[in-house]
Amino acid sequence: MPAAVVVGGGIGGLAAAIALHRIGWRVTVLERAGEFGEIGAGLALWPNATRALAALGLAERVRAIAAVETAGGVRDRAGRWLFRTDNSDVARRHGRPLLMVHRAELVRVLVAALPADLLRPGGEVRAVWPDGDGAVVEHRDGRVRADLVVGADGIRSRVRRQCWPEARPPRYAGCTAWRAVTEPLDGRGAEGALFWGRGERFGFAALPGGRFYCFAAARAPEGGEEDASAGFARRFGGWPDPVPELLAAVPEGAVLRHDVYAVPPLASYVRGRAVLLGDAAHAMDPALGQGAGTALEDAVTLAACLRADPDVDVALARYDRARRPRTRAIVRRSARMGAASLVAWPPGAWSRNLLARLVPPGLLLRSMDPVLGWTPPELPEPAELPGPAERVEPAERAAEAVPAPGGRPGGDA
Ligand SMILES: Cc1cc2nc3c(=O)[nH]c(=O)nc-3n(C[C@H](O)[C@H](O)[C@H](O)COP(=O)(O)OP(=O)(O)OC[C@H]3O[C@@H](n4cnc5c(N)ncnc54)[C@H](O)[C@@H]3O)c2cc1C
Repeated sequence: MPAAVVVGGGIGGLAAAIALHRIGWRVTVLERAGEFGEIGAGLALWPNATRALAALGLAERVRAIAAVETAGGVRDRAGRWLFRTDNSDVARRHGRPLLMVHRAELVRVLVAALPADLLRPGGEVRAVWPDGDGAVVEHRDGRVRADLVVGADGIRSRVRRQCWPEARPPRYAGCTAWRAVTEPLDGRGAEGALFWGRGERFGFAALPGGRFYCFAAARAPEGGEEDASAGFARRFGGWPDPVPELLAAVPEGAVLRHDVYAVPPLASYVRGRAVLLGDAAHAMDPALGQGAGTALEDAVTLAACLRADPDVDVALARYDRARRPRTRAIVRRSARMGAASLVAWPPGAWSRNLLARLVPPGLLLRSMDPVLGWTPPELPEPAELPGPAERVEPAERAAEAVPAPGGRPGGDA
């Protein structure tokens, strides 16, 4: 039975492990952090993402932790609606609505779908090198050999740096993002909105339990050092209702602030028996809310390709052909949307807002069909999820332990 080591236990890596496990691969997930979890705030799961989750057998479990936004839309800096959207239109067009979840709760669902002995928290990967028809992974506690190494280790991917030494480093997208989740607020319903300012945007969306996910971005020099909570309040505290109320309901110290980066295009997501997915392959501007969605798509597609073809190299080539053009197109589209929402030049912002008022919302939704309309390849129905312990190899045997490295590629081991 073939074995895979998944490097990184974020949304992409956990989804890949579930998908590979479903097709009968032995899997070990090596996660740098001491436990599996996400400190992140909220997450929008569009129909393409929820179809991928359905292919993993998790549709109902995710639905149970999600809020279904009723209505939303885009408003200008003064609070006037530029256009309104209705989640029932998304559901009608795509057979499922947009779901809002807390990231930590989504990660809990993914972790619960895997037998615990496949998961290795505290397993930071330090080096990866090819070894015949496989690869060797050196981690904090030793080395393992596997038929396949899945680099799901995020934007600063060690696997990418090691196996793609020529790849350019992530590029600063010119903006900083803030995220936070409020305490429960009574009577606010499940409406959300996105405000477009000049060089700044602020959005909010309902989460289960009366909480709201607040997300914002602004053009800013790379590496700003202002305290996250102070910067968030300073920039957005004076925005139209309900922004001040939302900011006041964010617990002390609960604002996350990150500079936004994109991974420059790679010539392939596959090198030998190493394969990249999620942010490691194509981290993108968050403006379309598609980073995690495309990571989920990658995971399902990878397993489907490996299941369809017994020749791993052929399957990986097929994965690359399926994923690279699509994710590159979404990266470009996200960058365009991010740039449009953060136009700082007053005539540019005015023209953007005018255009947004004129374009019928139905047309905007239709224009998203290529992104939201993705359908997953089929994965077999497992006997049970999470798999019964007796069907699962112990983690030590999920990938064969190796004593010493062979030839090592360039990189920063
Ligand atoms: C502000 C913002 C808002 C966003 N909103 C959305 C949204 O609404 N919808 C959406 O779909 N996407 C959204 N995204 C994008 C989404 O967060 C990411 O695309 C997604 O989380 C990527 O998942 P991943 O598993 O590929 O990487 P990550 O989540 O980065 O996970 C990588 C994992 O690898 C681990 N790791 C790293 N190095 C090593 C190592 N050497 N050894 C072992 N483990 C390692 C890390 O600890 C981490 O757990 C947003 C992004 C931002 C910045």
